[in-house]
Amino acid sequence: MSPETERFEIAFPTQYWHALEDGRVQCDVCPRLCKLHEGQRGLCFVRGNQDGKIVLTTYGRSSGYCVDPVEKKPLNHFLPGTPILSFGTAGCNLACKFCQNWDISKSREWDRLTDQASPETIARAAKELGCRSVAYTYNDPVIFMEYAIDVAQACHAQGVKSVAVTAGYMCAEPRREFYRYMDAANVDLKGFTEDFYWKICGGHLQPVLETLEYLKHETKVWFEVTTLLIPGHNDSDKELEEMTQWAVNHLGPDVPWHFTAFHPDWKMSDVPHTPAATLTRARNIALKNGLRYVYTGNVHDEAGGSTYCRQCGAKLIGRDWYVLTAWNLEVANGPSLVRDPRLGPIGDGSGKCRQCGTPLPGVFEENPGAWGARRLPVHLAQFAA
Ligand code: SF4
Repeated sequence: MSPETERFEIAFPTQYWHALEDGRVQCDVCPRLCKLHEGQRGLCFVRGNQDGKIVLTTYGRSSGYCVDPVEKKPLNHFLPGTPILSFGTAGCNLACKFCQNWDISKSREWDRLTDQASPETIARAAKELGCRSVAYTYNDPVIFMEYAIDVAQACHAQGVKSVAVTAGYMCAEPRREFYRYMDAANVDLKGFTEDFYWKICGGHLQPVLETLEYLKHETKVWFEVTTLLIPGHNDSDKELEEMTQWAVNHLGPDVPWHFTAFHPDWKMSDVPHTPAATLTRARNIALKNGLRYVYTGNVHDEAGGSTYCRQCGAKLIGRDWYVLTAWNLEVANGPSLVRDPRLGPIGDGSGKCRQCGTPLPGVFEENPGAWGARRLPVHLAQFAA
């Protein structure tokens, strides 16, 4: 070790890595498979090689906590109307030129990570604030999976659920462990060409598709998908046709899909805002191809933001931005999608249309939450033991 080799202030042990013959250590968490010399950080900047092992350097740190509406993640079929305690750390394992959270994901400024909290403190805060779940968001929890898993376990002990907001860029073995502790996820499918993933995001398409298929076929995690539409880059009819046909064939018609509007940011500040008409066009293509629950996001579009019965067309859940305006669901008693039997029945049920009885897939309670559109910043220190 040279005298100038960096020692990390926080060095939480991790599991998914192996030593290489040339003396470097390879991180096996995401398909980047960073090969690191002693003291070097990976592309995500939060995992690094210390003493010949990969460590997590942001365990227990956050860039801030906020109570958001769950619809903001976005999740429209998971405990609608409820508040969700949201936090992220720093760094990211993709390099999207359009990043809408670049101040966090590209952060190299560790003084941004001002909030410190143990998993138990976060769980206690969520419970006391009336949050039904905690979201690992703002940056991708894949890169801080050890912290997210510990928080999820502490939350489950309090009856609070866990939601991953992720790009799904993860290797198979850590993915299996990570989703064992997640109750729901929103996964970005950022485009549907390898060219877009490589040139615009600095990654590959196939691992993301594998994560989506894994969630669908090998877990009970409730998941929804988001595609941010960027004018001229991933919004052609051809790409949207191919993407949504793949979705129906590989994930089935019931996975909720969110087409959201881009605003000029980071390295794509010269690209215009996404017109509302583009989101509506994407939604229509997806519906035509057989997806049943397709939403527009980041625009004011009550029709595109509401949930309709696939059979009779009744409005089941009305939404005006993040405010619920209608609720026409009957919710069966008893747990339909409780992931962990140790939690016991906590009132989740499958929903069905009050008008015709057709089921609505998701995780629902008899009554919706009433959190509305509020965004409440929270300081966790007051919840420490
Ligand atoms: S998680 Fe980070 S260090 Fe590990 S392979 Fe991915 S980018 Fe590299």
